[in-house]
Amino acid sequence: MDHFNHRGGELFAEDVPVARIAAEVGTPFYCYSDATLRRHYRVLKEALAGAPGSICYAVKANSNLAVLRTLGEMGAGADVVSEGELRRALAAGIPPERVIFEGPGKTRAEMAFALTAGIDQFNIESDAELVALDDVARGWGKVANIAVRINPNVDAHSLDGISTGRKRDKFGILWPAARATYRVAAGLASVKVAGVAMHIGSQITDTLPFERAFRVVAEIVETLRADGHDIRRLDLGGGLGVPYTDERPPSPAEYARAVLRETQNLGCELVFQPGRMLVANAGILVTRVTYEKDAAGVRMVIVDAGMNDLVRPAMYKAKHTIVPVRTDGAQGPVKPTPADVVGPICETSDTFAKDWPLPPTAPGDLLAIRTAGAYGAVMASNYNTRPLVPEVMVRGNEFAVVRPRQTYESLLAGETLPPWLTGGGGVG
Ligand SMILES: *Cc1c(COP(=O)(O)O)cnc(C)c1O
Repeated sequence: MDHFNHRGGELFAEDVPVARIAAEVGTPFYCYSDATLRRHYRVLKEALAGAPGSICYAVKANSNLAVLRTLGEMGAGADVVSEGELRRALAAGIPPERVIFEGPGKTRAEMAFALTAGIDQFNIESDAELVALDDVARGWGKVANIAVRINPNVDAHSLDGISTGRKRDKFGILWPAARATYRVAAGLASVKVAGVAMHIGSQITDTLPFERAFRVVAEIVETLRADGHDIRRLDLGGGLGVPYTDERPPSPAEYARAVLRETQNLGCELVFQPGRMLVANAGILVTRVTYEKDAAGVRMVIVDAGMNDLVRPAMYKAKHTIVPVRTDGAQGPVKPTPADVVGPICETSDTFAKDWPLPPTAPGDLLAIRTAGAYGAVMASNYNTRPLVPEVMVRGNEFAVVRPRQTYESLLAGETLPPWLTGGGGVG
């Protein structure tokens, strides 16, 4: 459920007409809903009430400071995958004791920054990384809490690009190899084993892969305890899917039941790292129709947003629901006909939807691409020298630009010519 609804033939973000925001900030733009963010967090928190633990929001899904601050205010911690994300989480006011650092390629410099910031836990994905962390921590006179991210070899049955828990995926350490990693960790003075971590993928729309993976890691916890490790924490990752078009993902309550069924007897403190399920439906990408044309019998609606603004359809063949902002056409309701909704970028993959039902459009009409709050703005690029689009947060009947549209000046400002192109001559 979200707070982007049509009222009297016009799309509202909470109590603000989307067209009013478009008139003020121009298009395209991302629009987030405070009430939706808070609602999703609350629903998940309540569903997990029976499971003692914490929610560390996966910052990579949407790292806008306003989003981070909103979720932080609700009590969320942060799951970060880079120094940049850690800096964002801290800048948004999320306390370092609520931050977990993930990812297979943390550099020593990133480890040092995170250690001195005082984060709570590092999730380790290789023996080499474990040894490096121990070394960096010793250098700073710190002890780093760690969990080893275990690859449970469970297929999440999600899109190929976002499954992470199969044998050939690059994430985590396979079991039983991870058992030896724990043995190594136990012998290192500057790391302390806190728990076990897993994350099998994203946009998972079935409870079964979760259940299987939870069962596997629950057994692993028992084995590690028998090996003498003090396992108090179980980090179950994220991955819960959302409805983009007609998916029926498990509800937070169903997810929580699976969690409890498989982990209740362990007495572990649980950590959850939801990303998409908190933010996806809390955001839309608003775009304007530039032209309509007919290409060999195919109706094409060309819009001003492109794959550089929202890459999911091009990158993952993802589908998003697209709706007209105004449905009160002067002609009265018109029957939708299939259209390809495409961007202006010189790539065939710059296509948001194929054969998507839309009423006739005219240049200037606004469309909303729904469920764009996760892996949307964060994956945007300047491809085709297109400025990053603004992000707007709505709360009740007010809205604020939380990141302005990038200017052409700032886009070009970072580049310089080498001296041999400016007549200055090179050095040496
Ligand atoms: C991406 C990621 C998440 C969040 O995944 P969602 O599908 O957005 O919930 C959680 N944990 C880890 C380790 C991740 O890499």
